[in-house]
Amino acid sequence: MKAVVIAPGERDSDRLVELPDPVPAEGELLVEVLSVGVDGTDDELVAGEYGEAPAGEEHLVIGHESLGRVREPAGGLSAGQLVAAIVRRPDPVPCLNCAHDEWDYCLNGRYTERGIKGRHGFLAEYYTERPEYVVAVPDELASVGMVVEPTTIGEKALEQVETIQRRLTWRPQRALVTGAGPIGLLAAALLALRDLEVVVYDKAESGPKLDLVGELGARYVQADSLPLGHDLAGEVGPIDIAIEATGFSPLGFGLLDTIGPNGVAVLTGVSGGGRRSELPVDHLNLEAVLHNKVLVGTVNADRANFEAAVRDLAAVQERWPGWLDRMITRRVPLERYSEALSRGPQDVKVVVDVAAS
Ligand SMILES: [Zn+2]
Repeated sequence: MKAVVIAPGERDSDRLVELPDPVPAEGELLVEVLSVGVDGTDDELVAGEYGEAPAGEEHLVIGHESLGRVREPAGGLSAGQLVAAIVRRPDPVPCLNCAHDEWDYCLNGRYTERGIKGRHGFLAEYYTERPEYVVAVPDELASVGMVVEPTTIGEKALEQVETIQRRLTWRPQRALVTGAGPIGLLAAALLALRDLEVVVYDKAESGPKLDLVGELGARYVQADSLPLGHDLAGEVGPIDIAIEATGFSPLGFGLLDTIGPNGVAVLTGVSGGGRRSELPVDHLNLEAVLHNKVLVGTVNADRANFEAAVRDLAAVQERWPGWLDRMITRRVPLERYSEALSRGPQDVKVVVDVAAS
């Protein structure tokens, strides 16, 4: 089969190669890959900044946002069923959390991730997997099911918010999403689905992101037009939930000022650099204390988050028909996968179509 591999740690080592077709072990599924979404993690892998090959191997098959079709059934999943695969796998020890299927809360960092860390990914014609690590995707999501994985980031963020806010009586009305990339836009859709007033904050001055935000009935705020903090809150009203999806860390910490009383801000963006910044820490501390504010980080997702993402994407598809397809601004065939690795301002989600049709 054809697959896209990298040599982890080497810059621009990506290439399309021929590998032996995988053979499912007892109890495993064989899945034909239909399409794979590309994101910033893939860019880091190709830049040699991140990634790990499976033990004893030199190369890693990349790709972690997958949609496939079951070819050899197992575990109650029939042939022909669409599936999206979970990315992280428990560490071999396992730690307390991995032992309880909470691999996204792994304590020792020895978890593996398909297409990223120690396990081959899905940018290949086939993969094999145990049925507990895939979720069924309905046929209505056949063109967009590869966004299940990026949607799980928002699902877990909202799960964090719901869990934290059991501390009080709470009727959220307004949510802010910083960053209108795929993770931010999908989170905005989840919030709009819950009938919250949604504000999306991003640097883009024109292009598809603004249209996609508008189609959700959400408000778009261009970052240069209004600073975050009291200025934004003064303009739009108190913010109950904020989801940070840019990874620009000064912005993330500043959300403590932007959110309203009893609010929660969730950080989802990975900031790999060594940026230092001066922040008004007395003020932020005071805001957090006097207004019971919470700033929480979240990474990855568990099986329940994947199942919630499938349900909510079906609801998004029904409520805003075609919105998810319009979020996919470019699709390229497997042979031209490298074109998906360079994305411009007019791109939101770029997808590699692995299967021909
Ligand atoms: Zn663990």
